Amino acid sequence: MLFTRDMRRRLAAALEWSAVDKGLVIMVMTLPLYLQYVLWAFYVLGREDRERLVHVDFVFDFAQVQASVLVAGCAIVLAGWLIRRRWPDLLLFQHVAIQFFALSLVLSSYSIGTMSFCSGLVLLGAPIFGFILLDRFAVWLASGVALTVLVVLSYASTYGYLPYAPAVVQPVDHVSHLFWMNSMFFFAAPFLIFITLMADEMLNWWREREERMRLLSRTDVLTGLSNRRSIMEALDQELGRAARQGTTLSVVILDLDHFKRINDTWGHPAGDQVLREAARILRESVRDTDLLGRYGGEEFMIVLPGADVHEAMGVLERCRIRLAEAEIVTETQDRLRISASFGLACGGGAGDQVAELLIKGADEALYRAKANGRNCIESALLPA
Ligand code: GH3
Ligand code: MG
Ligand code: MG
Repeated sequence: MLFTRDMRRRLAAALEWSAVDKGLVIMVMTLPLYLQYVLWAFYVLGREDRERLVHVDFVFDFAQVQASVLVAGCAIVLAGWLIRRRWPDLLLFQHVAIQFFALSLVLSSYSIGTMSFCSGLVLLGAPIFGFILLDRFAVWLASGVALTVLVVLSYASTYGYLPYAPAVVQPVDHVSHLFWMNSMFFFAAPFLIFITLMADEMLNWWREREERMRLLSRTDVLTGLSNRRSIMEALDQELGRAARQGTTLSVVILDLDHFKRINDTWGHPAGDQVLREAARILRESVRDTDLLGRYGGEEFMIVLPGADVHEAMGVLERCRIRLAEAEIVTETQDRLRISASFGLACGGGAGDQVAELLIKGADEALYRAKANGRNCIESALLPA
């Protein structure tokens, strides 16, 4: 791995940077490119066979222009640095940075040939990278401007108004072919490496964030169990599976007894702790394949795939006893006892209403359990 884990995280976090900082990233990352052009020009001008490789006068001007671009780029970086704290969201700076990047690369592209491998690479790579990191409109605008200028320059050189690839002396022998191929790779390599690595890191970060968000949207923050939406979706899925396999399943709604008293007597944080403990006890009392979620305030839902009333009763009795036997020690060292009432409905079959019927049955059974003195289990037998 080229980057350490920490570096990768910081690079990828560029996605969440301010507009100005993102503009600064573009500037700082591309300034070395201009330095690279200047160094290349020095190198080629220093060669004895330079007349066979490049148009010397043009490359001399090219080096000066690139050096000026470098200085201008540094000035823009300085400006960005000065404003980044005061106006971090100034989109104009990002526009300036992207246009600067696009137009200066158009200039370089014109010098070595608008139809060259390097030009194509930048024309395709830069917008893709830009769309991931930067303001969409700014990227569209800069890509549009750059493409238009490139097309105009290409036609102008085709019709003889401008020279095509004015830096290049058309290669005629092995040495000049090799020189130009190496030059193209030299120009393309940093850009290619940078864009590929950054895009990979950022997209990967995106994928991880997507997964975190998906998990969060399905999880109850307090207890860590599935939330209501998630457990209901799971119930639908299990019902579909049961219908296909011709089996039944059990749906349970359980409600902690006199929970309001716990809140009223020991305070809300103690109530929260009781909910967390109850969730843990329930999780440990059912199988991994059983589904458990927080259905409402102090109500939980359990789905037992494949379980008939008899089996479900066994599981629920275990849950009931473990809850009733638990002693929850609060942060203030108070020892609390809890209990829960359970409503069970068992059934299956195809159709949209099955889930609704089962939940209604479990709910009614729960009310009976409450009416029968709490800390007990009641079941509703529904037609399968
Ligand atoms: P019953 O035995 O009939 O179920 O009585 P109960 O007191 O448990 O029922 P009730 O519905 O009257 O009270 C439920 C309480 O649960 C009311 C609400 O403040 C509390 N509650 C709901 N969600 C939370 C939560 O996330 N944290 C805490 N601490 N309390 C909650
Ligand atoms: Mg309740
Ligand atoms: Mg209750």
